[in-house]
Amino acid sequence: MRVNTLKRAAIAFALALPGAAIAAVVAAPAAHADGCYTWNRTLTQGRSGDDVRQLQIRVAGWAGNRDIVENDGRYGPKTAAAVKRFQQAYGLRADGIAGPQTYAKLYQLQDNDCTPAHFSYGELDNGCGGSGWSGGPLSAAQTKQNALRTMWKLEALRKSLGDKPLNVSSGFRSRACNNQVGGASDSQHLYGNAADVTSRTSSLCQVARAARNNGFSGIYGPGYPDHDDHVHVDSRRENNSDSSSNTTSWSAPDCGIGAGND
Ligand SMILES: [Zn+2]
Repeated sequence: MRVNTLKRAAIAFALALPGAAIAAVVAAPAAHADGCYTWNRTLTQGRSGDDVRQLQIRVAGWAGNRDIVENDGRYGPKTAAAVKRFQQAYGLRADGIAGPQTYAKLYQLQDNDCTPAHFSYGELDNGCGGSGWSGGPLSAAQTKQNALRTMWKLEALRKSLGDKPLNVSSGFRSRACNNQVGGASDSQHLYGNAADVTSRTSSLCQVARAARNNGFSGIYGPGYPDHDDHVHVDSRRENNSDSSSNTTSWSAPDCGIGAGND
């Protein structure tokens, strides 16, 4: 979101005016230039382009149960459904079309570095004290891009839990860091695709259950070995660089979540 001093001044000015004048000021259309990314056209099914791809990253967490939104730059039925769920979640008119109201909400949610309001690159790069985005199997740029999508999914998960804060205890890990913490040899953490999450306000099972609807194809939580104090969520289905197949893998037996079957 772009915090604009002029706009702030205009709002302060509006507050000092009587009712009719306030309505006039607030209703004035504002040409928006966002610090991260600005969409220049309304997007509907059948459209394609980088603007669609940018949108897909931001609605990746609204994929629906067991599903994912492919980041392919094509506005298909899954993208439309995800946009619709995003709109429903934020109280917008839910038509599955990305237009001014949807963009306004996205501008409000995104920071100038394109991360969503409640997560930051620093938070996702906290493995072993923060090592930048290099040292994994992918380029630093690709890893960072994956971490961005991870954060937008986390933002959706946070929203699904009723706007309750989530804490990321481990995000991206370089190979050295992954070895140090004893992570799996081909861990999604190496790709910027994973986050270990805790919460002070939601139970781990609430987090794990909700994550099933937020585009996470990998979920491990209570009852799965070494996952009783956090929930691991990842995007393994989108990962074509790892050695595992692009399938869903869930296990949190204490939460009634079986091995990819629920
Ligand atoms: Zn993990």
